[in-house]
Amino acid sequence: MIRQAKGKTPRRLPPKKASNSQKDPVGVYCRVRPLGAEDEECCIEVISNTTIQLHAPDGLKANRNGEFKETQYSFKKVFGIKTTQGELFEDVAKPLVEDIIHCKNGLLFTYGVTGSGKTHTMTGSPGQGGLLPRSLDMIFNSIGPYQAKRYVFKPDDKNGMEVQNQVDALLDRQKRDSQTTVPKTPTTRRIDPEFADMISPEEACKADGVDEDSSYSVFVSYIEIYNNYIYDLLEETPIDPIKPKPPQSKILREDQNHNMYVAGCTEVEVKSTEEAFEVFWRGQKKRRIANTQLNRESSRSHSVFIIKLAQAPLDADGDNVLQDKNQVNVSQLCLVDLAGSERTSRTRAEGSRLREAGNINQSLMTLRTCIEVLRENQMCGTNKMVPYRDSKVTHLFKNYFDGEGKVRMVVCVNPKADDYEETLLVMRFAEMTQEVEVARPVDRPICGFAAGRRQRNQAFKEELTRRLEERGGPLDGESPTVLNQLLQSFPPLPPCEISGPNDDVTLPRLIEALEKRHKIRQMMIEEYNKTANMLKSVLQEQDSNLLSKENFIQEQRGKLGEKDKMLQNQKNEIDRLEKKSKMLEYKIDILQKTTNIYEEDKRSLQHELESREQRLQREMSEKRRMEARMQGIVTDSKLKWEKECERRVNAKQLEMQNKLWVKDEKLKQLKAIVTEGKTENRQPQRPSREKDKVPAKRSASPSPVPTGPPVRPLHRRSHSAGGERWVDHKPNTNVDLDTVLQPNLPNAIKVNAPSEKALSKCDKYVLTHQEVASDGEIQTKLIKGEVFKTRGGGQAVQFTDIETLKQENPVAASRKRRSSETGPDGEPKEGDWTDVETRTQKALRLL
Ligand code: ADP
Ligand code: MG
Repeated sequence: MIRQAKGKTPRRLPPKKASNSQKDPVGVYCRVRPLGAEDEECCIEVISNTTIQLHAPDGLKANRNGEFKETQYSFKKVFGIKTTQGELFEDVAKPLVEDIIHCKNGLLFTYGVTGSGKTHTMTGSPGQGGLLPRSLDMIFNSIGPYQAKRYVFKPDDKNGMEVQNQVDALLDRQKRDSQTTVPKTPTTRRIDPEFADMISPEEACKADGVDEDSSYSVFVSYIEIYNNYIYDLLEETPIDPIKPKPPQSKILREDQNHNMYVAGCTEVEVKSTEEAFEVFWRGQKKRRIANTQLNRESSRSHSVFIIKLAQAPLDADGDNVLQDKNQVNVSQLCLVDLAGSERTSRTRAEGSRLREAGNINQSLMTLRTCIEVLRENQMCGTNKMVPYRDSKVTHLFKNYFDGEGKVRMVVCVNPKADDYEETLLVMRFAEMTQEVEVARPVDRPICGFAAGRRQRNQAFKEELTRRLEERGGPLDGESPTVLNQLLQSFPPLPPCEISGPNDDVTLPRLIEALEKRHKIRQMMIEEYNKTANMLKSVLQEQDSNLLSKENFIQEQRGKLGEKDKMLQNQKNEIDRLEKKSKMLEYKIDILQKTTNIYEEDKRSLQHELESREQRLQREMSEKRRMEARMQGIVTDSKLKWEKECERRVNAKQLEMQNKLWVKDEKLKQLKAIVTEGKTENRQPQRPSREKDKVPAKRSASPSPVPTGPPVRPLHRRSHSAGGERWVDHKPNTNVDLDTVLQPNLPNAIKVNAPSEKALSKCDKYVLTHQEVASDGEIQTKLIKGEVFKTRGGGQAVQFTDIETLKQENPVAASRKRRSSETGPDGEPKEGDWTDVETRTQKALRLL
């Protein structure tokens, strides 16, 4: 909206920044025109009232190897071939007309290739008026009774509007009437049949909510942009048919509110739809002439029809427009019929026409680029500069895209197959445009006095006339009144030429006429007095009415005073409550702060607790690890020490045995000296034993000679005396294993418990011992020893060898053979033992 700036604030902020944050996408509609000829190939199908589908024409598909697919495009609304101009207007332009009446701007443009129906949609034809005539008609239908007199609003040539008083406006009107030959009342003019029936009366529509206490005026401008030059189509230049002057182009300027406008462009004030049409057709005619004269191609020019609506509130009496420029609101609706969007090659233009076409294409290209950049900025949050200034079309409408009003576009398409490729480009542009959002214009109501002044004044006038009529008819108007009748019956004076002093004819006639006139005068005076009295009484009545109204007003004032008091009390109460609420808010604030502090504390304590718990956990696990390690160390060292102790005990035992033997020997020698009296020179010798190899099923390795207990070799039984005799010791617990290989012991004394008597008769001892081997089989051990007589008269067995008899599962045995030489417990296998000492110790343990 181009609102007049206030006196002291000459420049308003750019509209974009001042406007609200609500945004609407650009409304894009699609209109499909009917095919030119029935038999033409069609490439567009309307699928729903929002979607169309494009089919590639057969020829194209074949040529391009099926490169083109069927594609669908969606719009705010799709209008099929049967859509009437009226239906299209209802949806597309009506809301924009309502907006302009409510002080909001609008931009509506048609886009498409040449022949797609842009002009048909925008302008239409007789009987099928397009969006432009319909918009004008709706505006005038809505503001008709509230229009200001001509020249009350006056454009100030800076895109603003001034208000003139009635007298100046009247003078301007008279000036214009004397200059032009245009008849005063356009309604009585002969209307060009070309635009006579654009809209049928039954299609007329009207906007709601028109402010009745405002005065309105409509101004129209019509420009053409060709080859990036702006031409004013309404400029009145005398046409020289012999040497026509080329039209002068106009420039764009920015007004104090940063709105773009065409400087020096003619703005024609129009008072009716017909007059506006007349102006429009004037422009069209000029356009046609210029195109023919300058050999232009009309499809390459953009035409812009601007409807400006000035509105200002009425004064307190409701009679005249308020003489305050700042109260004037100007809103505008731009109706743009863009040039054909097709590429240059299609038009087969040449030379300068081609260059021009290039420029026109350039302006549509700029429009596309601007839309692209706007979309990118909005979608990606970028802040790229929109190149509005690159073409006149985009520069002129820059404000709309920056949020100065609603933007709508009607995409016109011709479904014929020839247009397919161009239509595809049009669709892509349309789709992209839909994604651009434009800030919603804010509502700015016109501030004025109390509403209804115009109506009240009208009502008063009507009431007065009615009453006067009641009492003898109105004083004015064309209807015959008493006074008029009297005036009409006023007798004309007869010829006053007196022929002589005795003229008896003229004088009496004159006297009679004068007397009659006198009588009528008297009657007129009476009538006048009567009317005056009546008026007086009416006025008195009005006075008394006024008085009673004044009384009523007084009464109302009294009530108002009371209400004021009440209001004051309530205000005080509100103040008190406000203070209280402030206090409470303050308290809440403090409590909130305290809560925050506590919460902060709680959080930090919790944090600390967590970290401590973590530390504790870590320490605990460390401790457990340590414990396990220590336990391991303890078991290791215990085992080591146990072994060491055992080794030391054994060594000590051996040492003690040797000592004992030496002592024993000494004692024996001493005894021999004492009892027998003869000295034996034999030195005691430690018994040396031969290795006694007994054949065994399993290997029994020979062992080194261990230090055995002291024996007397003298008491050894001679082998030749009767062979070796064995004590065959087999405990009762033994199990019969059916062992094939059995020890061959002739003359053996079999015992199941060690017996001293048997030992005294034999010199060899064998113990058959059974135990469970590591592989779970029972193994039999033959523990062999030699029997010696001890010096004390007893027997001692010195173990010398162990034979092991073992049965094996053949499968397990083969597996075992493959395994290592060591047993499962890490000790050497029994058959591999080489250390006799160890074997002996084992045998001792077994006994
Ligand atoms: P453009 O302005 O896009 O070049 P026009 O509006 O001049 O196209 O249309 C070309 C022709 O097609 C005109 O004769 C017009 O009457 C016709 N036409 C276009 N749209 C329609 C429609 N919706 N219904 C009937 N005729 C149409
Ligand atoms: Mg056209």
